[in-house]
Amino acid sequence: DLEVAIKVVIVGNGAVGKSSMIQRYCKGTFTKDYKKTIGVDFLERQIELDGEEVRLMLWDTAGQEEFDAITKAYYRGAQACVLAFSTVDRDSFEAATSWKMKVEDECGDIPTVLVQNKVDLLDQSVVDPEEADLLSRALGCRLIRTSVKEDVNVNAVFRHLAACCLQE
Ligand code: GDP
Ligand code: MG
Repeated sequence: DLEVAIKVVIVGNGAVGKSSMIQRYCKGTFTKDYKKTIGVDFLERQIELDGEEVRLMLWDTAGQEEFDAITKAYYRGAQACVLAFSTVDRDSFEAATSWKMKVEDECGDIPTVLVQNKVDLLDQSVVDPEEADLLSRALGCRLIRTSVKEDVNVNAVFRHLAACCLQE
């Protein structure tokens, strides 16, 4: 059997929880301040989907997103994308469209999921549920609401992307 390997890029403004999501999914841990391990470009996790072994490689940035300085190497060969914003950060929600365009420029039209993270902080939300739904429709990708902190829906994000990739 040929093993399927999928490079996944995780984009969005700083502090929305991208590194935490990778750490949670690949290592099962959550910390308040996650420091990227120097020299490691991605973490991986293997899952089984429809009887197939799928290896997901989740690529992290070292904070370059804050300076719009993500390199082309980061995007190269990416087959799926997580587009993340935070429930409590209005700017991150408003930046989602430009992140989608950036990924399209670099990677073309790859399977993408819009992720609203930090739903454990819904009582402090600065994004209306309808707005998020509208955005996901406008961008043509599914919306998944997650809490990396409480481990809600994180697996669903990556299973969905893997399923999209296997269908192609
Ligand atoms: P990145 O800059 O997008 O990689 O964001 P980080 O993963 O470094 O997370 C930024 C901060 O948000 C950290 O303090 C995390 O612990 C916190 N964080 C991440 N996910 C969640 C979540 O689901 N809920 C809450 N309350 N905090 C989170
Ligand atoms: Mg990070």
